[in-house]
Amino acid sequence: PDAPKGICGADADTIVARNFLRAVASGSGCYIHVVENTALNLKNTALERREIKGLNALDRLCTIFGITETDAYKKAVLVADAVLADLYKPDYEKMTLVEKMAYPPRYKKWQELGILPGGAKSEAVRGVVKCSTNLNSDPVDMLLDCLRLGISTGIYGLTLTNLLNDVLLGEPEIRFAPVGLRVINPDYINIMITGHQHSLFVDLQERLVSPEAIAAAKLVGAAGFKLVGCTCVGQDLQLRGSHYTEVFDGHAGNNYTSEAILATGAIDAVVSEFNCTLPGIEAVCDELQIKQICIDSVAKKSNAEMKPFVFSEREQLSRDIIDEVIESYKTRRGKVPLNLLPEHGNDNTLTGVSEISLKKFLGGSWQPLVDLIASGQIKGIVGVVGCSSLVAGGHDVLTVELTKKLIEKDILVLTAGCSSGGIENCGLMTPEAADLAGPSLRAVCKQLG
Ligand code: SF4
Repeated sequence: PDAPKGICGADADTIVARNFLRAVASGSGCYIHVVENTALNLKNTALERREIKGLNALDRLCTIFGITETDAYKKAVLVADAVLADLYKPDYEKMTLVEKMAYPPRYKKWQELGILPGGAKSEAVRGVVKCSTNLNSDPVDMLLDCLRLGISTGIYGLTLTNLLNDVLLGEPEIRFAPVGLRVINPDYINIMITGHQHSLFVDLQERLVSPEAIAAAKLVGAAGFKLVGCTCVGQDLQLRGSHYTEVFDGHAGNNYTSEAILATGAIDAVVSEFNCTLPGIEAVCDELQIKQICIDSVAKKSNAEMKPFVFSEREQLSRDIIDEVIESYKTRRGKVPLNLLPEHGNDNTLTGVSEISLKKFLGGSWQPLVDLIASGQIKGIVGVVGCSSLVAGGHDVLTVELTKKLIEKDILVLTAGCSSGGIENCGLMTPEAADLAGPSLRAVCKQLG
């Protein structure tokens, strides 16, 4: 900069910390929104005594939370309420589940540093307030807020969202799954889903494979309905795909791949509920006459029809969506050219890896993995996770090339989010990828099959 300080007197450290806190508070607000909706959906499902697929996952959470109730539905309500109660606390009241969820030495350190978070929603609001015009100018104070928000977002927005999804939607099971544009079957009415809130799709998933819906699809010449996975919600469906084999075609791709998925011409509607529903798909949808429906206003697209998800009205919402999508199929199919890419992706991506399923795969103990690391056969584990980006050479280039380099050096890679969408489409999650690994890691992979 030309001047050492801004016109208000803020220096570069203040300006950078303020912008960083603004981004962190906004991101925290996003994933706290997701866990809030997930907890509400679990609670409402339990109150209506509807299906809860992950009873073992529920028991594990009850043990962590100290819930001793025996009825599954009451347990689910208590679990959801415990999460919600923490989210809604004021910022001056610490959340109680942090200590139960966190690794104890780390919790102790957070306590020493004074960064244990208060109510997660209030913390996000405080972060937004601090970084507004001429408020906080202490970079260290703002960065400590970022750490506090990181704790609440990590434990609630990420970990607990996943664990609550395990309860409601079923636990991941390790299996092979098809990925990439090849999963799109043009014989079906195809709905691409984008977002992060899998629990909003429970009713729609069931209704799409009901005899009535299939009969309606057949009346217009389609074989039925399929959900085509895109972005994180597709990744979550893939993870739990063993419970949804009929309705889910597979995960076609990540954030920026959404444009290519639509360009196949075989998608009849997009149903979105969160990020990353790219504004860039709006023009593609207009051009290819693809219906856009949004079920959570936080991710409203300019040309999408807003049909808000309300739990008590979800059955009507699903019926409305099905009617709209059938209309879209009737209007566009036969007129819009198909540009399928059946060679894209692969049929044998390893998926369904969770802490529980992986430990089970290892024979019920982490010891085999620990031994491999201790002996140096595997040099370590690196997480390549989160959003894929366009930096460093183009979409997915950095994450895919980094993963190749790491496995070449006998380092195991764990991946999630859109990073894994690119990594899996490029074949790095297939058994054949072992050939790209260094000699020790390759031998371990071959031994495991
Ligand atoms: S991983 Fe990142 S880019 Fe992908 S859908 Fe989630 S937030 Fe968006």
